[in-house]
This record gives sequence, C-alpha cells and structure tokens, in this order.
Amino acid sequence: MLPSPSSRERNTEVGADPYGVTILSHARTDTGRRRKNNEDSLFIDAALRLFVIADGMGGHAAGEVASKLAVESIHQFIQWTNGGGTFPWPFGFDKNVSYQGNRLRTAILYANRRIIEASKTRKEYRGMATTVVAVLMDGDVANVVHAGDSRAYLIRESELTPLTSDHSWVEEQVEKGDLTASDAREHPWRTMVTRALGGKTDLTVDLRRKPMRGGDTLLLCTDGLTSMLQEPDIARLIGAANGNLEDATAALVAEANTRGGTDNITVMLLRFQEQP
Ligand code: CA
Repeated sequence: MLPSPSSRERNTEVGADPYGVTILSHARTDTGRRRKNNEDSLFIDAALRLFVIADGMGGHAAGEVASKLAVESIHQFIQWTNGGGTFPWPFGFDKNVSYQGNRLRTAILYANRRIIEASKTRKEYRGMATTVVAVLMDGDVANVVHAGDSRAYLIRESELTPLTSDHSWVEEQVEKGDLTASDAREHPWRTMVTRALGGKTDLTVDLRRKPMRGGDTLLLCTDGLTSMLQEPDIARLIGAANGNLEDATAALVAEANTRGGTDNITVMLLRFQEQP
C-alpha cells in the first residue's frame, strides 16, 4: 500500500565513521489538516552528515519552490566543498567560526542568493522566502545554523533544550520583555518571521556548535509542530517512543494533527550512538 500522499518519510543511518559516533536519523513531513500543499522541505545526506529542514512562504506554491531550492542549494554547496582544500569563500571566512561552520554558513548564504535570483524570474515567485534549520557534523560536534522560526532542540537525558532562538517578531518582543511567552503563542503576528532566505542579500544567520554525546537526540522541526505542541509535550512524546525514531516522529506528527494541524508539520530526529 502506498503511504498517504500527505505524509512522507526519510529514514537513514550514518554508519561507522572515524569519530566513533553513529547517527541514526528519521524524518517525517506532513501537510497537516488545513493546508492543501506542503511547503516544507527536508533533506538528509548521511554521507555528508548534513541534515536540513526548510519552511517555505509565498503564494501560488512559491513557498514550496523556495524551500526546495534552499535544501538543494545547501546540499550542492556542501557537496562542492567536500574533501577540504581551498576554494573562494564568496561571503568571506569568519575566523570566529570553525571550517565546517563556515561551510554551512556559506551554504545558507548561497541558498539565500539563489532564492533571491529565482524570485526575479517569474511573477508568481516574487516575495517567496523560506526559513531554514540545518546541521552539519564536524566530528562529534553539531554545527547548527538557522534563519527564521524553524527550530533545533537537544534532548539529553530526557531534558529538552532549545538550540535556536526564533527570528520572529513575537520572540523579539519576548526578549525585550514586552510580551510573555504565553502571550506570544496567541499573538496574531506569531507567524511573522524577521529573517528568512529570499529576503535581503545581507542575511545574517545564527550558528551554534554543540558537542554531542552518545545517547543524545537532536530534533529539527518547523513551526507546524511547535505552534501545536509545547516543549514538555514534545519531550514526553519523544521519551515515550523509547529510542524508536520512527515511532517518535509519527507520534509528534499525529499529536500536532490531533491538536488542529493548522500548518505543515516537519520533524527530523537524529540519534547519536557511541560505537561499541
Ligand atoms: Ca510553517
């Protein structure tokens, strides 16, 4: 039987590598219960140790085009620069950031330029944009980059910790102390992002390095999950799956749909295991 057209999965395992860490991953994207199209995109390249989620915005399916172009461009750049060596850094080399961090940051900025270029080619693409959250492994260190309100969380010993802070209007008000976190969740402008790929050419992305340990799990997700489920619910559902990533992504998507499924839902889980 074919899977439901509204739900797609990606399953993969990164085998033994020189760092002694195995990464299992599973991802699921679902249209949700209200939208006709799924404008989220996801991408896993186990060999490159690259994991990406994007949430597109724009009318006439342009959001879908933007999020697809984002994951494709990021993949392309990481592929081009695989194996080290020197190459021109089109957006400069940030000395405060590792080589792999620079690669990922540059990949995002390259994707941004490509979306801006593409948005000029057709009237219906005008104004299209996408959020992104991406992980590129550097040994056992996760480089996490994001723009917009797609998020990354670390789950370590059942505790869920955010690794990203939304680039959104409501989050800026919460940081200034003008809104409470619970007001932000209900605010009519809660979906307004302040940074995205496809907007300005001088995009700034946030990069974070997080050393991973055996037993850790990373969650990447779009706001279709976090607008429906609060963090304790997310932690509980992942914990209840007992390390089964497929069950965990299914439970997260099902619960987001049970609570309304007002947006496309994309979840990706990476589980880090020490090799025996
Ligand atoms: Ca969304």
